[in-house]
Amino acid sequence: MIQRTSGPADSLSINHPPAVVVDGISKRYGSRIALSGISLTVKSGEFFGLLGPNGAGKTTLVEIMEGLRQADSGTIRVLDAPPWPRNVALLPRIGVQTQSSAFFVRQTAREHLATVAALYGTEDSAVDRTLETVGLTDQRGTRVEDLSGGQRQRLAIASALVHEPELIFLDEPTAALDPQARRSLWDVLRALKEMGRTIVYTTHHLDEAEALCDRVAILVAGRITALDTPRGLVEKTGQPTRLLMPAGRVSEERARAITGVDRVVVQDGSLVLETQAAGKVLSALDTIGGLEGIQTRTATLEDVYLVLTSDTQHEADGPNEEHQA
Ligand code: ATP
Repeated sequence: MIQRTSGPADSLSINHPPAVVVDGISKRYGSRIALSGISLTVKSGEFFGLLGPNGAGKTTLVEIMEGLRQADSGTIRVLDAPPWPRNVALLPRIGVQTQSSAFFVRQTAREHLATVAALYGTEDSAVDRTLETVGLTDQRGTRVEDLSGGQRQRLAIASALVHEPELIFLDEPTAALDPQARRSLWDVLRALKEMGRTIVYTTHHLDEAEALCDRVAILVAGRITALDTPRGLVEKTGQPTRLLMPAGRVSEERARAITGVDRVVVQDGSLVLETQAAGKVLSALDTIGGLEGIQTRTATLEDVYLVLTSDTQHEADGPNEEHQA
C-alpha cells in the first residue's frame, strides 16, 4: 500500500480536528466481504476522493461515514462524533448526495429544495442561491418528475448543499452530467473547498479526481491499495513518460539505443518511446531528426489506477467470500 503522511493538504488541517477518522472498518453482506480493515483520515478542508472498480466498496464506506450503515467492526468518527447509531446532531453539519437520492417528484424543483431547506431550518433565500449554484434556475418551476436525469442529479447535489454543511459527501455526483454540467460542477466544488468545506466523494472519472482531489484512496475488493495525492501516486508508481513520434522517422533499433529509453513499441502508426528521463531523450531526438510531430504524454492518475487495479480487477468482479480452513 502506498501511503503518504505529509502533503499539500496538511496545511489545511492545522488547528482543526480531522473531518473523518476511519479505523479498521470492516463490513460484509452475508458471506460477501465489502470492506476489510479500512483505515484512513480525511483532514478538515480536504477534498478527498474514493476511487475503485465497481463493487470495490466505495459506496459502502461512504454510507458508513454518513451514518446510513453500521460497520461490523472498527471505529469511525465524523466531525469528532460517532455517526452510528444515527446521530441527529450531525445531520445539519453534513450534506449527503447518494446514488439513489429520494425526491418529492410531484413538486417543482424549487418546492423540493425549499422542503429540504425547511427540514434543516435553513432560510428560504438559500434555495434560489443553491438552484443558481447548480445551474437549475431555469428549471425551478419544473416538476421533479419532468426533469432530465442530469437535472435530477443536480437537484440531488443542491439538496446536499442547501443547508451549507461543513462536510459534504457526494457519491458519483457527475455520473449523469453532460460535459458542460460536469465542468460547472467542478467550479462549484472548487468554490466550496475555497470556503473551507470538506468534501468526500466517489467517482469513476479519473481526470476529475486528478483535477479536484487533494488526496485519493484507491479501493480494490474492499481494501485500500493506495492513498496519496494524485501527483504523489504518479511519482511513486514510476509510470513512464511516453514520447509518440510518427513511425519511420527513426528506426526502432535506433530509438532503443537512445540513452534513457526504457522501452519502444509501435502503436497506432506511432513509435512510442517510454522513458523516465524525457528531457534527455527529447534532446537526443532533436539531434537525430528534430522534434516536430513528437507528442509527450506524461503519466496520469488513470495510468496509475489501471496498473493498481488491473491485477485485482477479477477479485472485484467475482465472488470474494472468505474461505476458512
Ligand atoms: P460501484 O462503483 O459499482 O458503485 P462500489 O465500490 O460503490 O461500487 P459497493 O456498492 O460498496 O461498491 O459494493 C461493495 C460490494 O458489496 C459489492 O460486491 C456489492 O455487490 C456488495 N453490496 C453492496 N450493497 C449490498 C447490499 N445491500 N446487500 C448485499 N451486497 C451488497
